[in-house]
Amino acid sequence: MQRTIDKTRLMTKNNSKFKYRCTDCGREYDGSQTLYLCPECSKLNNSSKPPRGVLKTIYDYQALKNNGSDFLNLKKRGFIDLLPFDNPESLPALRVGNTPLYSFEKLDSEKLPFTICLKDDSQNPTFSFKDRASAVVSAYAKEKGYETIVAASTGNAGSSLAGLCASQDQKAIIMVPEAAPIAKLTQIIMYGATIVPVKGTYDDAFDLSIKATEEFGWYNRNTAFNPFTIEGKKIVSFELFEQLNYQVPDRIFVPVGDGVIISGVYKGFEDLLELGIIEKIPVIVMVQSEGSDNIVRNMNTDDFETKASTTIADSISVDIPRNFYLAKQFIQKYDGEFLTVPDNEILEASQSLSGNYGIFAEPAASTAFAGLLSYKKNGKLADNSINVVLLTGSGLKDLKSVNKLLNIPESVKPDIEELKKTLTSATLSQR
Ligand SMILES: *Cc1c(COP(=O)(O)O)cnc(C)c1O
Repeated sequence: MQRTIDKTRLMTKNNSKFKYRCTDCGREYDGSQTLYLCPECSKLNNSSKPPRGVLKTIYDYQALKNNGSDFLNLKKRGFIDLLPFDNPESLPALRVGNTPLYSFEKLDSEKLPFTICLKDDSQNPTFSFKDRASAVVSAYAKEKGYETIVAASTGNAGSSLAGLCASQDQKAIIMVPEAAPIAKLTQIIMYGATIVPVKGTYDDAFDLSIKATEEFGWYNRNTAFNPFTIEGKKIVSFELFEQLNYQVPDRIFVPVGDGVIISGVYKGFEDLLELGIIEKIPVIVMVQSEGSDNIVRNMNTDDFETKASTTIADSISVDIPRNFYLAKQFIQKYDGEFLTVPDNEILEASQSLSGNYGIFAEPAASTAFAGLLSYKKNGKLADNSINVVLLTGSGLKDLKSVNKLLNIPESVKPDIEELKKTLTSATLSQR
């Protein structure tokens, strides 16, 4: 039986609760259609420069204010008023987000005059922050009737989409560059996604995934290209606001590759600002690896220039940051800060996090903590300040990078005297 669709109604009536706004030209587009980049600004994009035309998702903040939507009301409704789909039940059943925030006032047995708060996003279903974006993308696809979601990824985004799609009975297709290491592919394969190795680089895989989206009518999760990746990631800011007793922190250290997580953090606080729930945006600190600093290095240049990346922090090793312009815009608008840290400091930070707090983070995540340690060393953290570090992924995802820290002692005979000889006197005196 055929169903007739009243096309005039679909085209003329904007029944969407949000609209898209281009972050370059400011043009606005009706939210009832599925859009990726701004159709105008993206015309001249080529894959050797960061893309123009990333879209921001704008809600009717005034209407929400008029309805008396305060933070608790919004939260009670699962923040659905600030998300691009209609029913919270479209989200995966797995617990995404709502990750713990731990506070510490000690480091290496030293009492600190300020507080360090660690937001442990390795506690997501596939062990990284990327699940926040995949969850929202998956929910949107479900409501719009897309059965297949495609993403180009070298690691966490792909494994995240694969895992959440498995839980939602959706098909995931992950395009990876040919050279992607096998360890990164294991999760994707175990979750049952279709994996497509593409000859060439990440950028080649990215471009092919977009062509396939157009050709086959799939939905595309590519970071920044899909505006809802930012919407998913912003929820961390709502959680932080609540976990800090409805205060904004003094600083938030964010590890940055493509610049989508940092834009999500800003967007979350910006939504709260628009709603009059907060009065100021916290200082957000972009931390990049010295070996992959394509946003930091181009913060004050007129024309973006790329430099090939080499860093142990593979999840933030990015030559052409997909969200360069929006990340830069947010940092400039809200007086954000930025710095780079070298690989050896990233490794030290990883060891410090594990040894001090029992949280083993992957190098990309430890980069944010290395940023905080650098601020501490330079006396830039004020007394009594609250400093949040986003720990975006689990250390078990990338064991190879910490290999050189491992020094496994020789085995002892199972004999108490032998044992005494090998243990240090310091260990023996600790009862
Ligand atoms: C993707 C990722 C980042 C960086 O996020 P961007 O949006 O690319 O800046 C940081 N840490 C981990 C663990 C990641 O997977």
